Amino acid sequence: MKYSSYMLHNFRNIPQLKHVSPEIINAIEIVGSVLPFKTNNYVIENLIDWSNIPDDPMFILTFPQYDMLIPEHFEKMKSVINNGADKPRIKEAANEIRRKLNPQPAGQLEYNVPMIEGEKLYGMQHKYRETVLFFPSQGQTCHAYCTFCFRWPQFAGMEDLKFASKEAELLVKYVKNHKEVTDVLFTGGDPMIMKTKHLETYIRPLLEANIEHLRNIRIGSKALTYWPYRFLTDDDAGDLLRLFEDVNKAGKHLAYMAHFNHPKELEGKTIENAISKILNTGAVIRTQSPVLKNINDDPKLWAEMWKRQVKLGCIPYYMFVARNTGAQHYFSIPLLDAWNIFRKAYQSVSGICRNVRGPSMSCLPGKVQLLGVTDVKGENVMVFRMIQGRNPDWAARPFLAKYDKDAIWYTDLQPAFGEEKFYFTDELNQILRPEEIEFDLE
Ligand SMILES: *Cc1c(COP(=O)(O)O)cnc(C)c1O
Ligand code: SF4
Repeated sequence: MKYSSYMLHNFRNIPQLKHVSPEIINAIEIVGSVLPFKTNNYVIENLIDWSNIPDDPMFILTFPQYDMLIPEHFEKMKSVINNGADKPRIKEAANEIRRKLNPQPAGQLEYNVPMIEGEKLYGMQHKYRETVLFFPSQGQTCHAYCTFCFRWPQFAGMEDLKFASKEAELLVKYVKNHKEVTDVLFTGGDPMIMKTKHLETYIRPLLEANIEHLRNIRIGSKALTYWPYRFLTDDDAGDLLRLFEDVNKAGKHLAYMAHFNHPKELEGKTIENAISKILNTGAVIRTQSPVLKNINDDPKLWAEMWKRQVKLGCIPYYMFVARNTGAQHYFSIPLLDAWNIFRKAYQSVSGICRNVRGPSMSCLPGKVQLLGVTDVKGENVMVFRMIQGRNPDWAARPFLAKYDKDAIWYTDLQPAFGEEKFYFTDELNQILRPEEIEFDLE
């Protein structure tokens, strides 16, 4: 299958949009100047139900919508575009709005950046003891963009192969020096956007270095949904699958961390075949998604997703809470609602699907999971635990917060019973220097 991609400059060529109202088309252009927009022929032809516009969840997931911007921002952008502003002026106006949408400022990326010989390694993050995140420079884009994602604006441009091998060398060196690291997680963007020959430049040196304490190579990707032909008919699909096999042969576990936001993404033969190809290499596919208003805020959808994933041989892994960034007002739901969705879905599936953990916030102290609401001596409290902690000792320790049905993020929480702080508050403040807290708004 040939890949045709659509971005802001050519989206009007998408044949299916001919039957869509001019208001919706204009909104795509206006909102798409601020939020990420990119899609492709697979998404358009297989995932979107064009008889269900504008409510179709896959349409909302990939096409910017009118109310993803607040009215003030929408009107501002609309007037800039309608006044015939040139590209630099449009970009300037868009950036002005983006800065107000908490676009995970550079400092946030800067905070978990590891060092080697006194130098910061910018393509990496090391927040949790066992796992190093690696952002290969050519993997910082995707086959299509999700409207809820605000990670891409700061992504670097494509770099050349020479730069990649330099990066790979530093990665190997870092992992070798850190015996506590068992996992390297390739992330982005989407590392599967890379040609196999580029991906190989990173993975093969890790295998060849024969690092005993390195056990798992993980790849976080949405390519199974946005471009399953990556594993089927792309020129280098065969080479890619051989690379996966070689990870296995080298005695490492290849964990493919797949993003699925809606059951629609799991329908049909193409995705089924792509999944089998990956599984046949000895890799394991684990799945994750945020819970998103207007897309998947329904326990039935989640139960359906988990069941279908298991049927196809995947393991449900995480349900996340939408981050406090970008079009948050459009996608976010209160933590309590997220828990209710999780609880109802979890209750309706068998233990085979219950490997999944959630709802979980990836926030400043760690991965914080809402276990539920309970009553302690007549007072309602919310019970949380950390799945991962910035201090590894915080993991699996529960804590209680004051009941708050409107809280949507960790920063909204107050300790229960009039306590001044959570058990980790002091230590967290010690770990983070004040100037860094200011940047890390999570
Ligand atoms: C989620 C995450 C990981 C991986 O955590 P696991 O629980 O091992 O899947 C690693 N680093 C960061 C910064 C993360 O947010
Ligand atoms: S595929 Fe992942 S990184 Fe890419 S836009 Fe979607 S959520 Fe963001």
